[in-house]
Amino acid sequence: MALVVQKYGGSSVENATRVKRVAERIVQTRKAGNDVVVVVSAMGDTTDELLDLAGEVSPQPDPRELDMLVTAGERISMSVLAMAINDLGYQARSFTGSQAGMLTTAAHGDARIVDVTPGRVQAALDEGYIVIVAGFQGVSPDTKDITSLGRGGSDVTAVAMAAALKADVCEIYSDVDGVYTADPRIVPDAQKLDDISFEEMLELAASGAKILYLRSVEYARRYGIPLHVRSSYSNKPGTIVSGNLEDIPMEQALISGVAHDRSEAKLTVTRVPDHPGAAAQIFEIIAEAEIDIDMIVQNVSTAGNGHTDISFTLPKTDGDKAVKQLRKKQEKVGFEKVIYDENVGKLSLVGAGMRSHPGVTATFCQALADADVNIEIISTSEIRISVVCRDSDLNTAVKAVHDAFELGGEEEAVVYAGTGR
Ligand code: ASP
Ligand code: MG
Repeated sequence: MALVVQKYGGSSVENATRVKRVAERIVQTRKAGNDVVVVVSAMGDTTDELLDLAGEVSPQPDPRELDMLVTAGERISMSVLAMAINDLGYQARSFTGSQAGMLTTAAHGDARIVDVTPGRVQAALDEGYIVIVAGFQGVSPDTKDITSLGRGGSDVTAVAMAAALKADVCEIYSDVDGVYTADPRIVPDAQKLDDISFEEMLELAASGAKILYLRSVEYARRYGIPLHVRSSYSNKPGTIVSGNLEDIPMEQALISGVAHDRSEAKLTVTRVPDHPGAAAQIFEIIAEAEIDIDMIVQNVSTAGNGHTDISFTLPKTDGDKAVKQLRKKQEKVGFEKVIYDENVGKLSLVGAGMRSHPGVTATFCQALADADVNIEIISTSEIRISVVCRDSDLNTAVKAVHDAFELGGEEEAVVYAGTGR
């Protein structure tokens, strides 16, 4: 008997009909002779709606109470799913994250898993139950408070459960057939990948691909749990995420895909004194505000006069905080001003084959030039090239790069559901 962990995203259980459909799929897996643990997200856009509600009630909701609120979304989906399974003649039992042993840090809204103690899950499995676990949530052993794992966190719950239970497979069900060469909502001829390495998937997820949550891929790689990404609306084979970069032959698959991200802003600090320690002071201010930054460039635009500009990208949600903290220390650091720009988008090209193909950057930049897209920042890793451009150019840029690397195919990608919210 194999142990299968299945995770269903919000659009897979967006209404009663879908819940019943998913229940049937779970029962089929069970009938095939497997033990099944299901991790479920909140129905449809419930989490967004709960956050909107909180925002209407309070301008700055208390983080503890906000977690009590948003974790309710998964409590609804887990219980109705268990009911639907029971009606099909199988026994199911739902557990909150806390009951399932998801122990986390106390950081509300962005808690990290510190341990998983799935005693009750294991006991229920041993008694023959199908187990449903609420995704995206846990409990802090320090504060005893309920926490949430950050948006999209149900994937992490699934991978952590799979690791703790030593599951044979971790299947991630969503509203598309797998991992695509680009977001099919923007690039209609995007192709589904049959498989992809953990590293490439990490780069795609970190670059804005929403199909898998970055932390779940990190977790899966650390514990060596292959992920099977597939659709709950079809029976197609999906994408297997597994294996390491070292195992991919250098010559193979030049590019795996293009990702884009609209969640970041660009911040520029101008006329920073060009002496040792100035950059350190700036990034110290950002670090103290607990802001994660990404692409950094130090320009030589004003070379020769002892000053330089520094730009970087950061989540739009942290923009106000960053600007405020930097302006406070302006005199001390000695820069001229802070320019904050939210109208930017980020595009990334990811592929293991880049390591051994020198022409990739040239083709990439030429594609953007032909599409009349201006590049504002460029950064690279071993298997990724990213640029920042105008937000209004982003869709055009994604299509242009996807075309230039001939990633498209005959088959039209299907987006079965979801609002993409
Ligand atoms: N329901 C949560 C969210 O929308 C968690 C998840 O979907 O994975 O972010
Ligand atoms: Mg969701």
